[in-house]
Amino acid sequence: MSDEQLAIHGGKPVRNAYLPYGKQVLDEDDIQSVVQVLKSDYLTTGPVIQQFEQDMANLTGAKYAVAFSNGTAALHAACFAAGISEDDEVITTPMTFAASANCVLYQGGKPVFVDIHPDTYNINSMSIKEKITKHTKAIIPVHFTGQPADMDEIMKIARENQLIVIEDAAHALGAMYKNQKIGSIGDMTMFSFHPVKHITTGEGGIITTNQEDFYKKLIQFRTHGITREPNIMRENHGPWYYEMQFLGYNYRITDIQVALGVSQLKKLETFIQKRKQLVELYMEELKNMDEIELPKQLPYVESSWHLFVLKLQLSKLTVGRKEIFEALQKENIGVNVHYLPVYLHPYYQTLGFTKGICPIAEKSYEEFLTLPLFPGMDEGDVMDVVRGLKKVIKYYRK
Ligand SMILES: *Cc1c(COP(=O)(O)O)cnc(C)c1O
Repeated sequence: MSDEQLAIHGGKPVRNAYLPYGKQVLDEDDIQSVVQVLKSDYLTTGPVIQQFEQDMANLTGAKYAVAFSNGTAALHAACFAAGISEDDEVITTPMTFAASANCVLYQGGKPVFVDIHPDTYNINSMSIKEKITKHTKAIIPVHFTGQPADMDEIMKIARENQLIVIEDAAHALGAMYKNQKIGSIGDMTMFSFHPVKHITTGEGGIITTNQEDFYKKLIQFRTHGITREPNIMRENHGPWYYEMQFLGYNYRITDIQVALGVSQLKKLETFIQKRKQLVELYMEELKNMDEIELPKQLPYVESSWHLFVLKLQLSKLTVGRKEIFEALQKENIGVNVHYLPVYLHPYYQTLGFTKGICPIAEKSYEEFLTLPLFPGMDEGDVMDVVRGLKKVIKYYRK
């Protein structure tokens, strides 16, 4: 048996240590930032929350930012603030994590899936109009892998039809659309701080917005629907008094978590530069492989490169994606797949969504493979992945 076939048959893999597809990068400054809060008076609802929100507003160019316990809670709050309720339809993409559509269901609304563009894998803005009905209330575009969706066209359609735009920018912190940072284009924008995302707070999320009315609703929704603002309370019995005016949740984040966020945010630009360098190396090393299709980059956007997703040309291989995936795992390369189209999840099937709604997303799902990408990797790690991929592809090539 040749050396090249060894791991595929259970022998020596190209890497000794397992390389995950994504992982946080923390340093001593991050740890000290958290320790400082632990020694302070406020573990939650303290001054670090406002500091983090201000930092995020400054970064994105938005007027306001409201932090939440996680990105999904932030999306839920945005759907509430947008007024989404029973019988409302919300247009989104199926090529995303389930949370982008679940947030609509939380409010009793109905997600409507529009197929993806074959080149960018983002929602195909040309197909949005045909899905608009008198019940349509909002559009939730997702900046898949960090490459911004077609925001000019999406905003134009939204304005013409009085729709609210909530951007799911969980992949796109620091990304640019036509020289504008993601976070101040749509009516509200959500970022997530889960450990695989660009920066982390353990769990955490935020909504950025330029609109004061959304901002006020988000703040109140985060704390049970409670307010202490004298000018909007129905009554005022004294200094202890507060009112719960609608059904909100406890979606607060702690100062402990955002202390990590404040410190991590200082390193965002370095993290993104590192991601870009790693991607350039992948692109260079993989450009001549006929069996894969590399991600396409639009000239007028700057991806923040959350994920490196390539497509396998299955017609040129003797096996399916599953076998390629398993062979790479045996090489200790933590490949992944993003995503099963949301409406193919069993729960969505029980809601009546059927196979075939978005054929491009469904076909892409069969071919997608996510390679490891995070700022803690070095060029040697990328070369390990490249060697592993070439070895496996060579073995299974037609
Ligand atoms: C991570 C993610 C979310 C949810 O964020 P959480 O902080 O994990 O709740 C939503 N949408 C997309 C596209 C994501 O990747």
